[in-house]
Amino acid sequence: MHIARTISEMRVALRSRRVLNHTVGLVPTMGALHDGHRSLLQAARARCDIVAASIFVNPLQFGPNEDFARYPRTFEADCRMLEAERVDVLFAPSAEEIYPAGASTVICVEGVRDRLDGASRPGHFDGVATIVAKLFHIVQPEIAFFGQKDAAQVAVLRRMVRDLNLPVELAVCPTVREADGLAMSSRNRYLSPDERRQALVLSRALQTAETLARRGESNAARLLDAMRKIVAAEPAVKIDYMEIVDAHTLLPVEDTQAGALVAVAAHVGATRLIDNVLLPPVV
Ligand code: AMP
Repeated sequence: MHIARTISEMRVALRSRRVLNHTVGLVPTMGALHDGHRSLLQAARARCDIVAASIFVNPLQFGPNEDFARYPRTFEADCRMLEAERVDVLFAPSAEEIYPAGASTVICVEGVRDRLDGASRPGHFDGVATIVAKLFHIVQPEIAFFGQKDAAQVAVLRRMVRDLNLPVELAVCPTVREADGLAMSSRNRYLSPDERRQALVLSRALQTAETLARRGESNAARLLDAMRKIVAAEPAVKIDYMEIVDAHTLLPVEDTQAGALVAVAAHVGATRLIDNVLLPPVV
């Protein structure tokens, strides 16, 4: 695997590998890789001739009181996973390389950027849209792979790609979970054993919504009530948002028959976790 630290090195590495009709796949990450990331790498390997991954803890998407400084950085272990999954090129730039002094252009996907995580983390999705647009320009992938785990991010990026006519397909991969249901996340390593156990009410609540929906309940208020009762069993878990929304606009829906995104974010101790499920349309 070639490791490129600068934009020009990355461009050269890709130019020398890409031949006519080659498909380049990109898997953007912030590192601290786990099996959720691995599933994206495998999806990219299955569909693309050249697989590029990036590791960049993007300062622009962290708020002033968030965990940018202590975000886990496990570069060597990450490289071992990327090698094992046969990634061709890794882009691992510095913050100065990506945001040289005076950089002042930001991508702002109006509307969706203010919903779900965007409401609790002002500016977060401007940071996400900006870094992803920059990575698309640097790598020029035909396909980019993202996780359904970050459902609001997917909505923001889909809208950006559509609105700016970016020539890239977004491939969205299912959420990978631990055996007990907890959605895999780089932030899970912050959890104490007690918090790790308490956090399970989130996936349990989502599972309940799924089960009730499958049995015919499509009233969003009733589904949310049932979920809130489950989360309330662990008072240490503080809900940030729990919403049932349209997966594209992220606006609340009252009825889930046409399909819906059930999304939750909560603080477990000092750690903020997110999770979601997609309810399919009732046919
Ligand atoms: P991150 O490194 O957290 O920015 O995540 C990089 C990519 O991996 C994003 O597209 C995430 O949605 C995706 N991802 C993170 N956790 C999971 C998971 N548990 N299952 C599937 N994809 C995931």
